[in-house]
Amino acid sequence: MPPDPETKPVKQFLWQQPVKMLPGVAARRATQLNKLGIETWFDLLCWFPRDYENWADLVPLSELADGQEQTFQATVLQKPSLNRKGRLSMLRTVLGDGPLRVAAIWFNQPWLADKLAVGMVCRFHGLIKRAGRTFQVQNPAFEPVGNPDEADPTFGYKPVYRLTAGINQGVMRQLIQSLLTRTSGNLPEPLPAWLRRRFKLCAADFAYSRIHQPADEHDIELCRRRIGFEELFLLRTGLWLLRRHRSQEAHALALEPDATARTALEAFLDRLPFELTGAQRRSWQEIQADLARSHPMNRLLQGDVGSGKTVVAALAMLACTLGGAQSALMAPTSILARQHHQTLCRILEGSGPAPVLLTGATRAAEKRDILAGLADGSIRMVVGTHALLEDVVVFQRLALTITDEQHRFGVGQRRRLGQFQDSGDSIQPHVLVMSATPIPRSLALVLYGDMDVSLIDELPAGRSPVATYTAASRDRPRIEQLMRRTAGEGRQVYVVCPMIEEQEALDLESVTAVYNRLAQQVFPDFKVGLLHGSLRQAVKDEVMDDFMANKLQILVSTTVIEVGVDNPNATLMVIENAERFGLAQLHQLRGRIGRGAHRSLCVLISDSNDDLGRKRLRAICHAADGFAVAEQDLQLRGPGDFFGTRQHGLPPLRMANLYRDTALMYEVQQGLETMVREDPDLQDPEHSRLRAQIVSRYSDVFRNIGL
Ligand code: ADP
Ligand code: MG
Repeated sequence: MPPDPETKPVKQFLWQQPVKMLPGVAARRATQLNKLGIETWFDLLCWFPRDYENWADLVPLSELADGQEQTFQATVLQKPSLNRKGRLSMLRTVLGDGPLRVAAIWFNQPWLADKLAVGMVCRFHGLIKRAGRTFQVQNPAFEPVGNPDEADPTFGYKPVYRLTAGINQGVMRQLIQSLLTRTSGNLPEPLPAWLRRRFKLCAADFAYSRIHQPADEHDIELCRRRIGFEELFLLRTGLWLLRRHRSQEAHALALEPDATARTALEAFLDRLPFELTGAQRRSWQEIQADLARSHPMNRLLQGDVGSGKTVVAALAMLACTLGGAQSALMAPTSILARQHHQTLCRILEGSGPAPVLLTGATRAAEKRDILAGLADGSIRMVVGTHALLEDVVVFQRLALTITDEQHRFGVGQRRRLGQFQDSGDSIQPHVLVMSATPIPRSLALVLYGDMDVSLIDELPAGRSPVATYTAASRDRPRIEQLMRRTAGEGRQVYVVCPMIEEQEALDLESVTAVYNRLAQQVFPDFKVGLLHGSLRQAVKDEVMDDFMANKLQILVSTTVIEVGVDNPNATLMVIENAERFGLAQLHQLRGRIGRGAHRSLCVLISDSNDDLGRKRLRAICHAADGFAVAEQDLQLRGPGDFFGTRQHGLPPLRMANLYRDTALMYEVQQGLETMVREDPDLQDPEHSRLRAQIVSRYSDVFRNIGL
């Protein structure tokens, strides 16, 4: 009896065999494949067709259509005639079916002459061109038909692959065919049988071979679904294992507040100039419960811009101080780090020693003191940038790390901050990640699949949404009037210009030009500031301080102000060349205003005539919250990997698409929940095989993030 593929041990690392181990693949070919990112047998197996040629459904000659790629069956009616001109050649013949005729023509493939004999019946596939009243097919591929009167099972869908120089379609087809003869029947089945039954998924062996040689559309659907499901299920389960591992095996400081600490936390809340919203309170309770456990918290605090994440972070940091431990808050830019530092100093005043600030710009002497204070525990709270990740930063008793806007940090970076040794046990800090990036839940399940989520889904009372309008250059006089009125009323204005790395010099020039015009010509009577990434740190700090203190009425800036900057007195934002920003980015930017009691207005200037571009800008005018914006962006752009799994340290997906396949993602989630409810330790042989597959397939990823 042949071994049952269900119980056969996983053929170890079949996946990882280098392609050059495939018979017929020489070093040169292997290099070509590598260029496509195909390193291993599994990579090649997963080189899924980008399209198919349908050789099964024949188009009658009477229905040929100009400009289409079509397949038809016909008889060769003439001996092919060959015309040569130097190295160029043209081969012609006439094909027919009943009374209908179609001319066939091949350029520079003289050898085909010998393959076409009068009377042969073939299937032809190629580009149809109308030539006057007749049709022509150019460079068709063809295959002889055995018995023209019978349905021929050998004709199905032919795969069409993405290629690279040196590998043509025929070669790629052949390479994959030759791989399939070796792998088929040998492919391990990572998905448990019950799961495949429940979600109607075909077997791995079938899926990975049929996807390359389907008989019909139905096959293609079946295989795509199965492979996409597998991909998401393995990744999702891997992330689940990671989270479980961390929350059960890793140790963290348990911070259970005693009576004194509880009083101090109450006092902090009393001193705030506002009441927490319900969502803030709920999030804080969830965080507090996590902090009290001796296993590390790993939580995402998600809330739209302006929802008030900072005060929740402050509560968590204060709880650490009160528990005799340290906490660190890391921000992606030094502007944001400084601002967080100032905010925390302000709201934590009276609650204990002030937090310190550590960035790349911190002076050497001060840095020495901070490092010493962190190492001996005399400093309890630190706010900083990537500078906190340097090896020289050693904590005495770090209980909590918070990262703000983490989509700007890779998963790897997020992990590095703060493994530290405590009385012999390896203690890990609790981790809180704050993000305003609105992402659909299906996507969150993967990107943040290793975390618990607290959602601040409520804005502080009294906020009115930022009114957003589009405008063109010719509206400038009116916009400038508006700016003048705003500044005249004591409010402040942002003018934002695009800045991208690819054309940094050009963009720098234009932001400077905008600044000069406004400062010198339009508003000589107001103070105008300029802020961009290439300024010296001290200059940036000064500009920002002046703007916060209302010493500058107008701030001309690049997107360095995109994240987190909080000046409630700024009520007008003018965005130049708005078409160059992503929708999510525009939403972030606009989140800088509408933070106080005053009504705020955002003007998107764009002279672009691009239809889609105009639609996108109109969409953001009407979408008030981040989720609606994300949804709009998705619909207008279509699926795309704009959150890039790679930048999150996750493996690239080869079949599944986190946007398009939301329904599939929910099925995957259901499957996972069923599995771990019944067998949380994945002890069932089928489940441990699954685990082995995850580890072997995604070894680098899970090693990277610590499984
Ligand atoms: P984000 O979630 O975007 O980081 P912030 O924490 O910067 O938001 O808060 C935005 C503004 O809202 C700040 O000025 C903050 O003081 C204020 N704020 C936070 N929570 C509340 C609340 N419950 N009521 C009123 N204002 C609040
Ligand atoms: Mg913030």
